[in-house]
Amino acid sequence: MVDDADLAHLRRCVALARAALEAGDEPFGSVLVDAEGRVRFEDSNHVAGGDATQHPEFAIARWAAEHLTPEERAAATVYTSGEHCPMCAAAHGWVGLGRIVYATSSAQLASWLAELGVPPPPVRTLPVNEIAPGVPVEGPVPGLDEEVHELHRRLHG
Ligand SMILES: [Zn+2]
Repeated sequence: MVDDADLAHLRRCVALARAALEAGDEPFGSVLVDAEGRVRFEDSNHVAGGDATQHPEFAIARWAAEHLTPEERAAATVYTSGEHCPMCAAAHGWVGLGRIVYATSSAQLASWLAELGVPPPPVRTLPVNEIAPGVPVEGPVPGLDEEVHELHRRLHG
């Protein structure tokens, strides 16, 4: 269940996504929050430089592996504007991170991109639990999903 604290973190993710778009990148933002509710790391998409693996959720997994104990990782939550792609879901699973809360699902993104006439990505969009079955996942969140949709319309419009 998504509560007010979750919503506040998700709004930060959408703000990071918007800032990424305005900086010429793709609109994705993510935040890592520990068991005490403290934001430990945040990032946005950095693929505009030519490295298509520079996703914020991948950066979070690497940061967490370096800076948090296995117990801290399991108790942490990753908030993200868009559900993890398979690469990031795998990284999340490999480093043993906990719950994921996303504003928009991969299925929503795939349908929006199809509507906008964007060619399908080289990597399939799959639900996180197809890749990392043990991770608790929540989303999409009504209201925020429409905000993220608008960012993708701006990117591809
Ligand atoms: Zn990704």
